[in-house]
Amino acid sequence: MHAPTPAPAWQPADARYAQQAYQRCGRAGLKLPAVSLGLWHNFGGIDDEAHSRRLLRHAVDRGITHLDLANNYGPPPGSAEALLGRWLRDEMAAHRDELLISTKAGYVMGPGPYGDGGSRKYLLDSLDASLKRLGLGHVDIFYHHRPDPQTPLDETLGALDFAVRSGRARYVGLSNYPAALAREAAAQLRALGTPCVIHQPRYNLLERTPEQGLLQALVDEGIGCIPFSPLAQGLLSARYLGGDIPADSRAARAHFLKPAAITPALLAKLRALDTVAGQHGLPLAGLALRWLLQRPAVCSVLIGASQTHQIDAAVAAAAAAPLSDGALQHIDALLADTPASP
Ligand code: NDP
Repeated sequence: MHAPTPAPAWQPADARYAQQAYQRCGRAGLKLPAVSLGLWHNFGGIDDEAHSRRLLRHAVDRGITHLDLANNYGPPPGSAEALLGRWLRDEMAAHRDELLISTKAGYVMGPGPYGDGGSRKYLLDSLDASLKRLGLGHVDIFYHHRPDPQTPLDETLGALDFAVRSGRARYVGLSNYPAALAREAAAQLRALGTPCVIHQPRYNLLERTPEQGLLQALVDEGIGCIPFSPLAQGLLSARYLGGDIPADSRAARAHFLKPAAITPALLAKLRALDTVAGQHGLPLAGLALRWLLQRPAVCSVLIGASQTHQIDAAVAAAAAAPLSDGALQHIDALLADTPASP
């Protein structure tokens, strides 16, 4: 007789799926939660793993089914995938198929000519390495992380197609592709029989570039949009409104959000937005997320979180009443001359 396998100490909350709306991703049958969680920051080898696990459990308990990674998330690169792999093994093994796990390749992952770009060799070797770190047989979405002008587009897309045909991925997506290239790639992928289902652009109240053609391309092609950095890395929250840089904030800790970016002009705009948010009964972060969820093609917002209450705030924002036309016009007028965010 075998000894029974001990049950994990933690089990996902029974009521988790009542806490989110799940929307179709473009024309695909795949559904995404209104709020998805990315593991770019706070899940690396430098972070406290017990806390990272707390964030993951909290997200799952709030109905967040989609966890987003890339080969290079950490630091060190690869360590976020390794952490997720350990957590899945220890605490979520019985629930793996309830999760939508994505990863990407396309930025620098390693030294030499095969650690960056969009070649078939880099993408497929990287995906195999990601699967190993994650301890999984497949990911649900495999993305090309950014365009690579040095690799023919058909080579990159052929590698994505092969990732699905070989069972390593269920779906493919693209990230950071400009509108015309996204349209061309969508047509090629459709012809290969592996449609692009999702696109990840940087899109938030302070970064409106996707409105110059990309969103329309996604609507036309039936591709879901999942904006990354929806809070502009925390700028679109109460974090910096007081004018100082809190010690536990991303601007104080990571070089991706530089304190110098928080200018008096930006602060004035954020405070004006905060006032509009208050008029609609929302915190600033809530306004930013609610606004995105009402944009064309958007099927989910891809947040980051360093604390569990940030996850709660995002889920509450997604459940809030839609912003009125008047509120949307008010926001546009305030942001008419906003430069691109960091
Ligand atoms: P956000 O814009 O949501 O920023 C998240 C950060 O903002 C948190 O870590 C926290 O930082 C702060 N924050 C969040 N909520 C609140 C709140 N309610 N009040 C105050 N501060 C808050 O997203 P990220 O920039 O983290 O990106 C999210 C995900 O997008 C990544 O994990 C990754 O998966 C993906 N991504 C994809 C890219 C691509 O090229 N495809 C590029 C970048 C990201 P803190 O508490 O530390 O100040």
